[in-house]
Amino acid sequence: MIQTQGLCYQYRNGPRLDFPDIIVPQGAVLLLSGPSGCGKSTWLALVAGLVAPAAGSLCVAGQPLGALKSIAADAWRARAIGFLPQKLYLSSALNVYQNLAMAQWAAGQVEDAARIFAALQSLGVDALAQRRPGQLSGGQAQRVALARAVLLQPQVILADEPTASLDDAAAADAVGLLLDTAKAQSATLVIATHDARVAALIPPDADGQIGFQPLCLLRSQL
Ligand code: ADP
Ligand code: MG
Repeated sequence: MIQTQGLCYQYRNGPRLDFPDIIVPQGAVLLLSGPSGCGKSTWLALVAGLVAPAAGSLCVAGQPLGALKSIAADAWRARAIGFLPQKLYLSSALNVYQNLAMAQWAAGQVEDAARIFAALQSLGVDALAQRRPGQLSGGQAQRVALARAVLLQPQVILADEPTASLDDAAAADAVGLLLDTAKAQSATLVIATHDARVAALIPPDADGQIGFQPLCLLRSQL
């Protein structure tokens, strides 16, 4: 579940962004659309607790953000949020397996090889466990990054421009993987994108279990 109220972010030497109030029920899918520069990545950073709002409140996965401080916030974020950033930030010095192990260490957990392989297998990349990120195709690297994002079974999955620079087939594949993974874990999924193709790839769910809410962020400058 994600709930925001009166959320506003102020860049130092940059724009002030005012965001509409949003409620995303647990397990729902939110498509965060809108042109480049409207504030999608900023909104994701706020929801992930990576930056603090200038005003407003937000509650993510049952946690009112702002109530936690540094170490507790880091541990909470590592467990509750699965972030698939636009730039994947896989460590080039580590192999695929070690990149996932690092996510467990970051959350204060002991390395769990069985769980790491299960996550890699669910995304079809377990055979690549010993490869370095530099030895992966773009699509493979994205699957590895998604496996890492969902390794700790987060309640919220945030994906920033997951179809950027992908052809139609690969874009459909990427969105399908996100939807399947979120559904398998009953996680709330937010896909932020300016890619007009993505809306067509998210089917309105017949059972109504997956909500679909197009959203254009509003931007106002001081
Ligand atoms: P989107 O993800 O929708 O493309 P962003 O959240 O990246 O939008 O950016 C929103 C606005 O904030 C844009 O006008 C952008 O130029 C501005 N912005 C982003 N990052 C910074 C920064 N570090 N400093 C100042 N302004 C920034
Ligand atoms: Mg962005």
